[in-house]
Amino acid sequence: MHKVYDVIICGAGPAGSIAATGLRLKGLSVLLLDEKEFPRDKVCGDQITPLGIDLLKEFGMVDNGLLKYTQKIDKMLIQGPDKAVARLQFDLKENQSEIYIIPRRALDHHLVRGAENLGTERFTGHLFEICTHTDGISVKCRTGGVVHQFQGKVLIGADGSSSTVSRLAGLHPVKRRGIAIRAYLHGIHLQADRLEGYFDRKWLPGYAWLFPTSQNSANIGLGMNVDHFKKTKPNLKDLLSVFVDQPYIKSRLSEDFSIENIGTWPLNIGPPKWNQLYKDRLILIGDAASLINPFTGGGIETGIISGLLAAEVIAEHLADDDFSKKIMKTYAKRLKKKLNLEQTLFLIATKIVGASPWIVEFLIKLVEISDLPFIFMKYMYKGNRVKRVDRTK
Ligand SMILES: Cc1cc2nc3c(=O)[nH]c(=O)nc-3n(C[C@H](O)[C@H](O)[C@H](O)COP(=O)(O)OP(=O)(O)OC[C@H]3O[C@@H](n4cnc5c(N)ncnc54)[C@H](O)[C@@H]3O)c2cc1C
Repeated sequence: MHKVYDVIICGAGPAGSIAATGLRLKGLSVLLLDEKEFPRDKVCGDQITPLGIDLLKEFGMVDNGLLKYTQKIDKMLIQGPDKAVARLQFDLKENQSEIYIIPRRALDHHLVRGAENLGTERFTGHLFEICTHTDGISVKCRTGGVVHQFQGKVLIGADGSSSTVSRLAGLHPVKRRGIAIRAYLHGIHLQADRLEGYFDRKWLPGYAWLFPTSQNSANIGLGMNVDHFKKTKPNLKDLLSVFVDQPYIKSRLSEDFSIENIGTWPLNIGPPKWNQLYKDRLILIGDAASLINPFTGGGIETGIISGLLAAEVIAEHLADDDFSKKIMKTYAKRLKKKLNLEQTLFLIATKIVGASPWIVEFLIKLVEISDLPFIFMKYMYKGNRVKRVDRTK
């Protein structure tokens, strides 16, 4: 007789690991599956928002083991298409978190180990089949040609932007997609506590970033929505080289600079089709649920939020073993209440900013003379965090 887990989670990214952590803290048995061995890389900008950090802190996940990989950020430089520049300074109150840059190879490994330390069981294999029964759900995984079967009461699909679970379940949550390229740049002079964002005509309506990972290295990349990508068909690798070749980057490179780990990845942008996040005994979270912020391209924070909400709803119904579609809908309802307004507003903001290079330039100039853009920034970073323009540099 096979063991029956309370919950099987497919995907050990931030969403899956945090869901596992939340479930273990409530005493449920959890199997966390991933096709990759950890540590593994994930194409990402590596930026974690203050709210994301606060949530990780709440679960005891921010310790020296993680901090040694962390670059703390409290400044931002944004440059417009006609070279208007805004310099922002975060004014942190006591106990407020900065933005953290943590390479995903380190972050995801840390979160998986955190879940394991709480008793989460792990398995490495590619999930390729699911079967829902009246009393549970079973999954099949392949590892090196060998098929393994597992039984659970509920399955969480946390398997990212090309989710196998959502495809096998016939769920279609994604309304819009983005695409982005990322690399690590070594050998650059930078301010290690400052994010840099560039809205250049060469890639608008997308944006390019330079996020410090140390005193002389950075996560760099650029992204855009898929509609624009399909229309203009740019070669993203060439576009990344164009970015590095701009005087504002090139002039800061050391002679022996290198660009490594180039990767391209799709982004499932929110808000999703909320009624496509659940079925009998099944819930989608994180990128599999299409929760990436349409403005920033960030999905770690919403992955964590959705993972915790999924854990909450599943734990509430363990005793009555009711994981019917009607009950699973509670998860989507709570998540929609938390994220729908915000994601809709960010989508509108993205459309405004993307409408014309002139608008981006105007908004960046506005920072110099008005506090208006700060209302938006405060909203973006969830709190009273961006307080003033740093006009000194
Ligand atoms: C270029 C780029 C830059 C980004 N920058 C940022 C940023 O700076 N900040 C931010 O917050 N977000 C950023 N994002 C978004 C962020 O990367 C995602 O939102 C985040 O990774 C979602 O986490 P997740 O746990 O849902 O999925 P993932 O992190 O994608 O994890 C999914 C896991 O599922 C596993 N898996 C997939 N299929 C199967 C299967 N069939 N069987 C078993 N395992 C499977 C994978 O191996 C993987 O480990 C960026 C995205 C891109 C593409």
